[in-house]
Amino acid sequence: MTPDAERLRKKLESTRLEIARHAAEFGRDPAGIRLLAVSKTKPAELVRAALDAGQDAFGENYLQDALPKIEALAETGIEWHFIGAIQSNKTRDIATCFDWVQTVDREKIIRRLDTQRPESMEPLNVLLQVNVDDETQKAGASPDALDALADAVADAPRLRLRGVMAIPKHSEDFASQRASFARVRACYEALQARFPQIDTLSMGMSGDLRAAIAEGSTMLRIGTSIFGPRD
Ligand SMILES: *Cc1c(COP(=O)(O)O)cnc(C)c1O
Repeated sequence: MTPDAERLRKKLESTRLEIARHAAEFGRDPAGIRLLAVSKTKPAELVRAALDAGQDAFGENYLQDALPKIEALAETGIEWHFIGAIQSNKTRDIATCFDWVQTVDREKIIRRLDTQRPESMEPLNVLLQVNVDDETQKAGASPDALDALADAVADAPRLRLRGVMAIPKHSEDFASQRASFARVRACYEALQARFPQIDTLSMGMSGDLRAAIAEGSTMLRIGTSIFGPRD
């Protein structure tokens, strides 16, 4: 094993232990918390090393960075999640190369992804990105808009509604991180009352996973703690 692969294996293991520790602290079953490894800017060899260490789901933000990796690692059975900003002229690549898209926040994108998802593939798993901080420059739908977006996804035969994703305003303070995540959770629970089949609340990154676990996250998106600082 190369030194890079060895280091990665250790970081993955310590991340999993940290998740288990926080789960125990907040009385949660760690099996209900998935780890998405965010591999943006990292080479395919490191993704393969993480895969060899038992990590099966990866998140990417930039299509030009992701597509060569997805091609290089075809046949591995990796589950790819698109977690970057969606430009409407790039939806075809998302619809044909990814298993999940977590950053859907407008109807036009929903229609395009539904039309472009190939019949030969499983429906594309969709999370609606919600913006709970009212930061107008930021991506994500307002909580008020979620119902209509969820209806649009539910009516799209090539898409499968799975839940909600959020990137709350950055804070170093546990209590304010937790308050933001609680607002995301409220959106998720309101949606789940209408769509009981949804199962994914994607929130929490390297710097705020403890607060996210405290507030019920079922999917953590972790980059830096696993792969180190971005290139
Ligand atoms: C980069 C990124 C992450 C991972 O962030 P880290 O702080 O490196 O863990 C998670 N989610 C999204 C949407 C990202 O863009």
